[in-house]
Amino acid sequence: MALGKDYVNQACAMARALELVGERWTLLIVRDAFYGVRRYSDFLAHLHMPRAVLAERLHLLTEGGVLVKQPAENSSREEYVLTPRGEALWPVLAALSAWATQELLEGEASWFYRHAECGTLLPDRLTCTTCKVRIHPREVLMEPGPGADLTRTDPVSVACRSPRRLLQPIR
Ligand SMILES: [Zn+2]
Repeated sequence: MALGKDYVNQACAMARALELVGERWTLLIVRDAFYGVRRYSDFLAHLHMPRAVLAERLHLLTEGGVLVKQPAENSSREEYVLTPRGEALWPVLAALSAWATQELLEGEASWFYRHAECGTLLPDRLTCTTCKVRIHPREVLMEPGPGADLTRTDPVSVACRSPRRLLQPIR
């Protein structure tokens, strides 16, 4: 059963966050936005989710200031792009996926993340132990790990077969 839209008796920050990003699919849409997905059709092809739910979640994320809807360059289409508020969710996604890789997938990572500048692997996806700096997701290079599914043929999966920077538009 879907959760209610708000947690009326919960005044804490976690409840506020979950109102915005706690529903099914929502964090996967945000994750895809970090992979560089911007088009509705690319979210749809990559996530295999119901159209109506995708439209509703994109609306919620736009209303909540996580994504902004804007005209695509050189096209009449519209696209969804992470705002600074949306980009600030990267440590949340990073921690959640690092936890799942360790605890649920026996360490078999779908993706490896490196500091683009020096190539150092970023186990926490956030800090470079070589450069001793915290990394903005724009400076993170992702590449397929042993758990990646390389058989999928949608535009997002194909783009992600090769090393690519986070937030770089898929096309
Ligand atoms: Zn580095």
